[in-house]
Amino acid sequence: MINIPQIEIKDEVKLTSRETAVLVIDMQNDFVHEKGSLRVPSATSTVPKIKNLLSRARNSGVLVIYTKDTHYENDPEYRIWGVHVKKNTWGWEIIDELRPTENDIVIEKTRYDAFYGTPLDDILRTNDIKTLVVVGTVANICVLQTVASAAMRWYRVVVPIDGISALNDFDLWLTLRQIDFVYKGIVVKNAEGVHFI
Ligand code: ZN
Repeated sequence: MINIPQIEIKDEVKLTSRETAVLVIDMQNDFVHEKGSLRVPSATSTVPKIKNLLSRARNSGVLVIYTKDTHYENDPEYRIWGVHVKKNTWGWEIIDELRPTENDIVIEKTRYDAFYGTPLDDILRTNDIKTLVVVGTVANICVLQTVASAAMRWYRVVVPIDGISALNDFDLWLTLRQIDFVYKGIVVKNAEGVHFI
């Protein structure tokens, strides 16, 4: 067995609404729906947690940003993962339960990192955002790569454990270890513990 090093996990965190954005990573049919082509089974349990978080965020005027992993014909990622989230297909759409509202921002990204080749950093800066609450899937792939990229730009990152999902516990805990130890993000036990003030 592998011992997981100590990770600091907070029960609650209070965030200033006008400086905070919630970033929902790739909660699309292909990754989350039972008929999806690249399904992460544990993502299902994160849906009500994310839904509640988003409801509270919107009520507090917190900026909500979704990412959609987006691939085109002959995308090189298909060689790694098979065909997934092909643009304008059902699998590419965000799941019905978390459908964005008209005030939310939706960003298409072609790789794991939501900053790479997208207007995300520009949007965050023009909205004076300092802190990102990151939820979604897959924890050790697009979530972690995006957290890393946010940390490189000195955003503070908050990640609730029950708001992210991976294919196995090892992948989930290595993600949390990296977020805590390397990127100095705040790991929160539950999304319910994230408060907007
Ligand atoms: Zn992809």
